[in-house]
Amino acid sequence: MDNGKINGKTVTESELLALGYRKYQGQNMDIYYAKDICGHIGNCVKGNPEVFEVGRRPWVIADNGEVLENIKVVDTCPTGALKYIRR
Ligand code: SF4
Repeated sequence: MDNGKINGKTVTESELLALGYRKYQGQNMDIYYAKDICGHIGNCVKGNPEVFEVGRRPWVIADNGEVLENIKVVDTCPTGALKYIRR
């Protein structure tokens, strides 16, 4: 799943925030998360527990991973609960 997009179009921050996503800001990319969409399948935490750690605040720290690696992990999110925007 390409989680940089919604319906085939590159997502914008205003679109994601309007949809209820929360922003986790990084230096070179931001990761967005919508808890209501999350299926708690855990691909994110298995993919990189340094970036995604349930129980930590904030639970997403984009700068703990490389941009391309983060994108790979975000794209494994099957529900679209995770999205990203590169800077
Ligand atoms: S991969 Fe997506 S659906 Fe699964 S736990 Fe992470 S955010 Fe939720």
